Parts: sequence; structure tokens; C-alpha cells
Amino acid sequence: MKKYDIMSDKAQNFINPQRIEQTLRFAYFKAQDKDYLRATLHKANAMNGLNTEQATALLLNQDEEITEEIFSLAAKVKSAYYGNRIVLFAPLYLSNYCVNHCLYCPYHQQNKHIERHKMSQEEIKAEVIALQDMGHKRLALELGEDEQNNPLEYVLESIDTIYGIHHKAGAIRRVNVNIAATTIENYKRLHEAKIGTYILFQETYNKASYERLHPQGPKADYAYHTEAMDRAMQAGIEDVGLGVLFGLNSYAYEFAALLDHAAHLEKCYGAGPHTISVPRLRNADGINAKSYKNALPDDIFLKIIALLRLSVPYTGLIISTREPEAIRLKALELGISQISGGSKTSVGGYAKKEAPQNAQFEVADHRTLDEVVGWLMENGHIPSFCTACYGKGRQGEDFMEICKKRQIHNFCTPNALLTLAEYLNNYASPEVKAIGKAMFAKELSRMSASRQALLTKRLSKAEAGTVEFL
Ligand code: SF4
Ligand code: SF4
Repeated sequence: MKKYDIMSDKAQNFINPQRIEQTLRFAYFKAQDKDYLRATLHKANAMNGLNTEQATALLLNQDEEITEEIFSLAAKVKSAYYGNRIVLFAPLYLSNYCVNHCLYCPYHQQNKHIERHKMSQEEIKAEVIALQDMGHKRLALELGEDEQNNPLEYVLESIDTIYGIHHKAGAIRRVNVNIAATTIENYKRLHEAKIGTYILFQETYNKASYERLHPQGPKADYAYHTEAMDRAMQAGIEDVGLGVLFGLNSYAYEFAALLDHAAHLEKCYGAGPHTISVPRLRNADGINAKSYKNALPDDIFLKIIALLRLSVPYTGLIISTREPEAIRLKALELGISQISGGSKTSVGGYAKKEAPQNAQFEVADHRTLDEVVGWLMENGHIPSFCTACYGKGRQGEDFMEICKKRQIHNFCTPNALLTLAEYLNNYASPEVKAIGKAMFAKELSRMSASRQALLTKRLSKAEAGTVEFL
């Protein structure tokens, strides 16, 4: 039997099935113990996080009063760490060629009726211009695993192309990259290409489920996939993004394993995950999400988000357009700090009309970016296109240190307003501009006189096209 070892970079040690089962037994037992749950909430109120056992016991509790307390505490923690800004991004699909056979994804190799396409650099330019014209500044690159069609050189060339496009007032300032697990050498090259976050979803931490869902292709190697973040961090990438695809396996197992993974990274590399994404399985070509018996109901989904916020308060939480507006709104209150907006989930979907049958999954929020920006402000959130930390060297351990002291919002709020000024001036509809003006007045009135003076100066510069981040 393999032993749990948080410091090991072997998947079987840091994601240890025996330990997870033991955590679940403990959590099921403690979930009935109201004194324990209250003491755990008291600990969460100190805003320094919860360990896997504590968070899982809260997840499994069924007491409505406790759940309400989890929700209100999560809102409090979120506000203390991040203020009211929400960072916006868009996915950009470069190629849907893939040699894997993930049973939940329509891009798997055996799907012969989906149209395959890999964008040329010219096509990427057109996509990026379309995204810049919407107002986006931060992208997440997506592509299937295919050494022949999508080699790393193609990814690196595409990143270079993207950073080099400046159309009108547009510029992509942060390119996050979601590519298949790879070697330390390749991660070093991605790092040199100045990527933002390296994102890789685990899909499921349960080894047996993982192997059943990935019957062939390089992704079938559970250990290689699970150890990818260790290799990325050993290669010098400081910001990594975790995620599981909820619905593939029991949610409690995934939740406990996800927190163990975060704890492992923090212990070994001094920085936990920069972000955690919480995708739920969606319908797609040949995929019926309802046929998966582990489909996650809304109430548990929201509880997971709130508990992630309490457990890893310093980690950004991401929700995509897989979720409908109503769920996104609730999730924002409970801890989500980044969302996608105006997304297309197929290759070439921004510059041309998207063919829904070629999308990787069905989008549930079809609003434009402008509508999402207006909606965020109407609900008291500052839409942010901020990418300051990367340029200012606030990454990895340094970022975590500021974040853990609950000081990051001192940067986030003014930077959000600067990028909002830039957005309103260049891309917003008249209605959204009007909502934005009212928001500026409100947010500035909350600041000290010296901050107000500094920001007022920088806001006019941002409107004129120069964003000077804090
Ligand atoms: Fe390929 Fe990724 Fe889809 Fe799997 S999830 S089939 S690796 S594109
Ligand atoms: Fe993100 Fe840093 Fe900007 Fe805050 S200041 S929104 S943490 S990039």
C-alpha cells in the first residue's frame, strides 16, 4: 500500500486513495457533529483557510443553518481578500485536433463527424482582433493534444503572434495556456514565452474513473497527468491553475483530492494554485451530461465554491460560460473571482459565425461581453481587465505573500477601475458607459483623499489610452 506523502512528487503519494477514503470517513462522521462544524466555521472566520478534513466535513453536513453560515462567511472572505472586482477573460481555441479519447469531450480522436481545424497564424490574428474589438485583454489558449498537428512550436508561435497584435486600442496582456501535460523542458519553453497561468484540469482524481474515461492516448497515463503541475513548477512556472470536471466522479472525493493537491503544491513550492476552475460536465456532440450518474446539483455546486473560498482564500476561483447567468450570479457572491464573458468554445468562433456542432461544450451564458460588463456593475461588482501582477513581478510565492496578508485588493480595486475606464472609453455601449460612470463615483468616494487624487489622474490617462497599473 502506498503511503500519503505531501512532499513527494509522485501522484500516488500526494493524491493518495487511502488517505482520501480516510478523509471521507472522518468527514461523514464529523458532518453530524454540530459542535465540530461550529468550531470549524470559527476557524474559517480567521480567514487563513481550512484543511481538507475540515472543509470536507462542512461539505458533507446537511444542516441548513450551517450551510447558510458557510455561504455568508464565504462572501465575507471573498470581499476581504479581493474586494468587489471580477476579472474577465475569454478562451481561445487554436486547434481541435486531438489524439486522446476522453469520453466526455467531443474532440476525442474517434469522433469522425466533427470538423477538425487548426488555425493558421493569419486566422489567429483575425480571432485576436475580434477579441480585442470586444475589449478582452486576457486569454486562455485551448487546444487538443496532438504532437503532429499541435506541437509545442505551434503553441509558442501562436503566443508570440497573440502578444504582437495591437489593433486600435487593443492588446492581449496575459496569455494563459491550457495544454496537455508535458515535459519539464517544454514547460521551461512555455515559461520563457511569458505565459500567464499554466492551466490543466485533472478531470477526475479517482484513478479507476480516470482510466475508464481515458481509454487511450497519452492522457491515459494518470500519474503523468497528475504530476504535471509539479513538473511545471519545477520548470519555473509560478502560476498554475487546477480544476476538476465535476460530474465524472463522486463530488466529495474530487473535492478532498483537489484540496490535497493544492496543499501539496503549497508545501512543496511555496505557492498553492494560482487559480482553481470548477467546470461542470455539459452536453456536447455525442455527450449527454444527464447520462452521468454523478451530475452535480446546483446547491452542492454552490457549496463547493463557498468551501473552496474558505479553504484556499488566496486562490482565484474561475467559473465559465458553461454556467447560466443565475448560477454565475450566486457563485460570484460566494467566492468566484474570475469569469469568462462573450465566449466561443470552438476553433475560429470569434471572427466567423460559430458552428455550434463544433463547440467543445454547450455554453449556457450567451451574453456579449458588453452585456456581462453591464450586468456585473449592476450587481455591485467592478469588471476588471487587469493583468498588473504579471508585469509587476507579483507571481507565485510573492503574489501569495501579498494575498495572504489580505493586501491584494489594494491593487485589485484601483487597477480594476483603470481597466474599466479603458474599456468604457473604447468598447462600451452608451448604456454600459452610463452605469460605469455611476460606479466610478461610488468607488472613488470610498477611497482616501490621496488615493482618490492618484487614481483620478491615472483614470484620465487610462481613458486616453495609457493604463498605469499599481
Ligand atoms: Fe482532447 Fe482535451 Fe478533449 Fe481530451 S478533453 S479529447 S485531451 S481536447
Ligand atoms: Fe489580478 Fe493582480 Fe490585477 Fe488583482 S492586481 S486583478 S490579482 S492581476
